[in-house]
Amino acid sequence: MGCTAADVADALRAAARVVAEHRDELVRLDREIGDGDHGENLNRGFAALVSKLDENVPASPGGVLRLAATTLISTVGGAAGPLYGTAFLRAATSVGDAAELDAEAVAGALSAALEGVVARGKAEVGDKTMVDALTPAVVAARAAASGGVRDVLTAAAEAAEMGAESTVPLVARKGRASYLGERSAGHLDPGARSTSLLLRTFAGGAG
Ligand code: ADP
Ligand code: MG
Ligand code: MG
Repeated sequence: MGCTAADVADALRAAARVVAEHRDELVRLDREIGDGDHGENLNRGFAALVSKLDENVPASPGGVLRLAATTLISTVGGAAGPLYGTAFLRAATSVGDAAELDAEAVAGALSAALEGVVARGKAEVGDKTMVDALTPAVVAARAAASGGVRDVLTAAAEAAEMGAESTVPLVARKGRASYLGERSAGHLDPGARSTSLLLRTFAGGAG
């Protein structure tokens, strides 16, 4: 069974609930090594997305992903807005106008999302950013693509959680946290945490 536009919209509504539940946690993480707005920024963006979905759900999965992209780009701000926006935009382009997404399409969309984040932010694995969560997620998603959509997303979520945890000892080399130099070590990167929360939600688990 593939993933329809309604399924993608449901996943994004669930993501909005999880972001709201974890807003304070993301704010606290960003306060430690950034400016403390990551939870607020994302919550604003996902709340705006839910309002748009309440008005109209686009006909195709790609259309829903494109709506997420444009909404996040115009409402989230900071570093994460353009980065998540680009991720959703590349994912939308990758799936085209297909009516349903199979496991291969979902793995391909995640891969395209990562390419977009890297093209935009120029971060590599080990720089202590969302790329540290998304990169292993894409590797795991590709490896699981012979299964179902749920298998792909579960594998991606598990890998993203480990990837996010791996940011704790790292010294940040991109974004605001890099201004702290060595003092950024010992903290979980907020963007890596939000990426792992989003993927866990897309896989159907609670945040
Ligand atoms: P800002 O730092 O502008 O306040 P946010 O707090 O919303 O933006 O987002 C911060 C997160 O963005 C970081 O935790 C990190 O994961 C991510 N980030 C910052 N710069 C980059 C980059 N160049 N590439 C990838 N991710 C980045
Ligand atoms: Mg911030
Ligand atoms: Mg900011």
